[in-house]
Amino acid sequence: MATRSRARRREMDIDENEIITMENVTKSYSSGAPALNGINLHINRGEFVFVVGDSGSGKSTLIKLLLRELTPTEGDIHVMGYDLVKIRHGKIPKFRRNLGVVFQDFRLLKDRNVYDNVAFAQRIAEVPTKEMKKNVPSILAMVGLAGKYKAKPRQLSGGEQQRVAMARALVNRPAILLADEPTGNLDPKNSWEIMNLLEEINEQGTTVLVVTHNPEIVNEMKKRVITMKKGVIVSDVENGEYINED
Ligand code: ADP
Ligand code: MG
Repeated sequence: MATRSRARRREMDIDENEIITMENVTKSYSSGAPALNGINLHINRGEFVFVVGDSGSGKSTLIKLLLRELTPTEGDIHVMGYDLVKIRHGKIPKFRRNLGVVFQDFRLLKDRNVYDNVAFAQRIAEVPTKEMKKNVPSILAMVGLAGKYKAKPRQLSGGEQQRVAMARALVNRPAILLADEPTGNLDPKNSWEIMNLLEEINEQGTTVLVVTHNPEIVNEMKKRVITMKKGVIVSDVENGEYINED
């Protein structure tokens, strides 16, 4: 309930500007070392944050917790004023409407064209048709796909497919965009196009959290960089660089 989560915010004393809060978060899947171990993370509205770290260090687990796809074994998570430990199941769709998500493997609807893949997100959010007919072309123009409405995913390059996924993630104007290795399957040119889009939507006010393995991009963009290792945040710096320990 909104009132309860506001009370919880007061109780935890979360700053008004803070849009993502993790306090002492641990996530264990089964026996063995936890995937995340004592994570504390504070992200303000409007930030652009990279999350880097070796494979298996817990980056995707972190993203899944922020999406409320998983719940923590221990600790507190607040996102956009929602208490993700206590949130009722019925409230999760409303919570997710304000989150855009992009994955490495695009996850488009294969039998639907570009326009319908994006419109689908608006239908789920119950956006009136009249508005949808303005929003979908506008977001497709922004990602540079104005001429491709009727193409099916298999008729598009990887870079184009990821731009459709970006349009779908952004069409509902989310407060937060979470991207888990969005350029993992793309060549450098397309990777930069996706990063430039992420930066553009961040400049328009969306908080952006991007998991990446791309040192060139991280070092060039000079954003906040969070480095994870074995389930722990080992560094968190503004204007950071990709830390390579190999
Ligand atoms: P990353 O995204 O940084 O590669 P993950 O968050 O995917 O890391 O994984 C962190 C750890 O948790 C790894 O040791 C991985 O094997 C384990 N793990 C991830 N998902 C599951 C799962 N569904 N069941 C069991 N173990 C998992
Ligand atoms: Mg991962």
